[in-house]
Amino acid sequence: MKQFQYVRPATQQAVLTALVQPGTKIIAGGSNLVDLMKHRVMEPDKLVDINKLPLRAITPAKSGLHIGALALNSQVADNQQVITMFPLLSQALNAGASAQLRNMATVGGNMMQRTRCTYFYDVAMPCNKRNPGSGCGALAGFNRMHAIFGTSDKCIAVHPSDMAVALAALDATVIIAGRKGERRLPFTDFHRLPGNTPQFDNHLASGELITAVEIPNNNFAKHSYYLKVRDRASYAFALISAAVALDIDNGTIKGARLAMGGVAHKPWRLTAAEKALVGKPATLASFEQAAQVAMQDAKAYKHNAFKLKLAPATLIEALKHAAGIA
Ligand SMILES: Cc1cc2nc3c(=O)[nH]c(=O)nc-3n(C[C@H](O)[C@H](O)[C@H](O)COP(=O)(O)OP(=O)(O)OC[C@H]3O[C@@H](n4cnc5c(N)ncnc54)[C@H](O)[C@@H]3O)c2cc1C
Ligand code: SF4
Repeated sequence: MKQFQYVRPATQQAVLTALVQPGTKIIAGGSNLVDLMKHRVMEPDKLVDINKLPLRAITPAKSGLHIGALALNSQVADNQQVITMFPLLSQALNAGASAQLRNMATVGGNMMQRTRCTYFYDVAMPCNKRNPGSGCGALAGFNRMHAIFGTSDKCIAVHPSDMAVALAALDATVIIAGRKGERRLPFTDFHRLPGNTPQFDNHLASGELITAVEIPNNNFAKHSYYLKVRDRASYAFALISAAVALDIDNGTIKGARLAMGGVAHKPWRLTAAEKALVGKPATLASFEQAAQVAMQDAKAYKHNAFKLKLAPATLIEALKHAAGIA
C-alpha cells in the first residue's frame, strides 16, 4: 500500500481547507476506500477523516427528513422516523452488505462507493474508469454483472449501491458543501452516465463534501417495496434491484416512483414507466405493461442477456408486493 498522510479535522471549514491539496481523499467509514487502497486502485496522498464533524443526526426537515452524511447505514435503517416515513429506504439499506459493514458504512460513503466491476479492481487489466484511455476489459470480457441501460463504448459498469436506488426513487436531494458555500442537487442528477469520461462517477467537484441528504414527504409509505435479486441470499451485490413506491387510492394508482439498481452506471429512474402507471388500476396487467415500458431502451452484452428478463420480472414482483397482491 502506498504511504499516505492522515488528518482528522474538527470543523467543516478545516476539512474543506484540507481538501484543497491535490491527491486528497475524504475517508468516512473506510469500508470501500481502504479496500481500494489495498488493491492499489486508488492511491491518495492524504486522507481527511471527517468523523469528527457533527453530520450523524437524522432530523425533521422543513418538509421531510434530513439525514446527515455520517449517519451509519444501520442507524438510518433502524431509525423509527425512516421506518415510518420512508420504509423503502430502510428496506434498501438492510438489503446491502452485512450487519458489520452497515455499522461502519455512512450515507455519504455509500453514495460515493465505486463500482464492483472486477476489471476495475484488477490493476493488471485495462479499465477506462481506473486508468482513462486504457480500454474497457468488461466490454469483450466477462460482463455478467454489467449494465443494460445508459452504457457507452468506454464503460458498461453499474453503480453498486442499494441505498442510492431507494433515494433516487424517493426524490431525495443531496446537500454539498464547498469553499464557495452550499449547493443542493437532485439525487437523480448526482451520479453520471459513463459517456466518454467514465473516470467520473458523479457530479461532486473536487474539494467538495457531502453533508446530508434530504427526503421530501410523500404518500408512498403504505405501498412501497425494495426487492433485490442476487446470487446469494445475503452479502452480495444486486444482479437487479427494484425500488418501487405507489400512491394508491381506491385501487387506482395516483402516483408512482420507480428505480432500478444493477442495471446502469447510476441508479436508474424509470420515469416513462411511472407515467404509464398513473391512472391505472393497481393490477398485475398494469404492472406488466409498465415493465414493458421500463425495458424499452435496454441493451445486453454477451453474458448479461438474462438481465433483460430478470429486470422486468423483478420490477413486476416488487410492484405486486407494494400493491399487496403478491
Ligand atoms: C464485502 C462488501 C459487501 C458489500 N455489499 C454491499 C451491498 O450489497 N450493497 C451496497 O449498497 N453496498 C455494499 N457494500 C458497500 C458498502 O455499502 C460501502 O463500502 C459503504 O457504504 C461505503 O461507506 P463508507 O462510509 O465506509 O465509505 P468510505 O470507504 O469511507 O468512502 C467511500 C468513498 O466515499 C467518499 N466519501 C465518504 N464520505 C464522503 C462525504 N461525506 N462527502 C464526499 N465524499 C465522501 C470517500 O472519499 C471515498 O471515495 C459492500 C461492501 C463490502 C466491503
Ligand atoms: S466496465 Fe467500466 S469499470 Fe469495468 S472495465 Fe470497463 S471501464 Fe472499467
